[in-house]
Amino acid sequence: MITSRPWDDDKPHEECGVFGVWNAPDAAALTALGLHALQHRGQEATGIVTYDGQRFHSEKGLGLVGDVYHDPRVMAGLKGRSAIGHNRYATTGETILRNVQPLFAEFEFGGFAVAHNGNLTNAAGLRRELVRRGCIFQSTMDSEVFIHLIAMSEYSTVVDRLIDALRQVVGAYSLVALSNEALIGVRDPLGVRPLILGRIGLPHEEPAWVLVSETCALEIIGAEFVRDVEPGEIVVIDDRGVHSIKPFGAAKPRFCVFEYIYFARPDSVMDGTPVYAARKSIGAELARESHVAADIVVPVPDSGVPAAMGYATESGIPFELGIIRNHYVGRTFIEPTDHIRNLGVKLKHSANRAILQGRRVILVDDSIVRGTTSRKIVEMVRAAGASEVHMRISSPPTTHSCFYGIDTPEREKLLAAQHDVGEMARLIGADSLAFISINGLYRALGRGSRNAASPAYCDACFTGDYPVPLTDFDKGGSRQLSLLEEISAV
Ligand code: SF4
Repeated sequence: MITSRPWDDDKPHEECGVFGVWNAPDAAALTALGLHALQHRGQEATGIVTYDGQRFHSEKGLGLVGDVYHDPRVMAGLKGRSAIGHNRYATTGETILRNVQPLFAEFEFGGFAVAHNGNLTNAAGLRRELVRRGCIFQSTMDSEVFIHLIAMSEYSTVVDRLIDALRQVVGAYSLVALSNEALIGVRDPLGVRPLILGRIGLPHEEPAWVLVSETCALEIIGAEFVRDVEPGEIVVIDDRGVHSIKPFGAAKPRFCVFEYIYFARPDSVMDGTPVYAARKSIGAELARESHVAADIVVPVPDSGVPAAMGYATESGIPFELGIIRNHYVGRTFIEPTDHIRNLGVKLKHSANRAILQGRRVILVDDSIVRGTTSRKIVEMVRAAGASEVHMRISSPPTTHSCFYGIDTPEREKLLAAQHDVGEMARLIGADSLAFISINGLYRALGRGSRNAASPAYCDACFTGDYPVPLTDFDKGGSRQLSLLEEISAV
């Protein structure tokens, strides 16, 4: 039986990465490169749709970007100077080929492709209503409601139809869309999910424009950063340039704070803040808040590394690579026997015994979700001879599930939702455990303490303060109603 990431299911997962390019000679190749840079935002499937001025072309597959687009014949079929692409990590709908984005439809006004990062929180109700009105869905994804809402709209232009659709959806989303006439980017009204505008070409040249989930996708294609797409903004890019539309009323942005802690690549800049610097700053604040006497600071690689560097610098305790990560662990695995599965964490992480032996260790990680991996890592570090193991976490306790495009377990399965910090320390086997406080997190990001009446970020997984209504979800914010149940109830 093939199963997915048996060693990696104790982390929240980013749902998706999106990429779009307009007016570039190698649009498909640039898109594949951009998607490669965004691979950390989704590894289960990838898709590209291009437009050559007359026809749309599409190529999608399950697996990594490098696996799907390694064949020159595949790339040669993706003709045109405009393209959008998508990396998928499934949070709604199974990963089967018909669920792989970009989605594409032929409308009366021409072809239209759309790729979505995020999650709609009223998709089930919308879908039920659309099915009642005769729509036939091809996938089990929330994103498909965009296609049907656009098809059902009575407005005449693509952009008006899209605005009409956006006014009906609720959720956290960044979209890139491609029509016969334009590349379109949209960021949800609170800007929970990221979207960035970039440009390729010298100032005196006709530019190519790109839309990306993270700035690391600009670097790889030699594009320059222009600006973040603003919360609630629609950018329409056509042969006349870039046009900005703001169809929603002004709202205070609530960007996802977990992007700084874990999701974004450390070389990206999110909403003006370099992620690497943010993580070091969070680590330094963590050291100020929860100092403990120890011999070495050891990150749980890779995501814990910058925070551990910040912790080490602030505390004056030496930074050491006491855990080594194996980068060659595949994304899928033939399900092993129980005995081998129990060794699972060692497939990804190995203890560096020469560093750990006899030392008092501060282990720095970015989050604790179920706690299963933390327990195994603490056990592994002890088995390698550490005399004490103190766990320090660069996020506040994850007490609530995310419904905005990050895959987290149901609330009942979140360790911090069920236990206080002392019990958690005992359960993972650490001598001590501490998390950065929510105010410490805000301070580390240069925001002062958290203003409870008007927080600067979405921090719902730490506070339960959900900024976007959870229409499809039960009142406790713990379980997503089944889309398939919703559909079968029609
Ligand atoms: S709930 Fe957490 S992970 Fe989800 S968008 Fe908000 S801060 Fe990000």
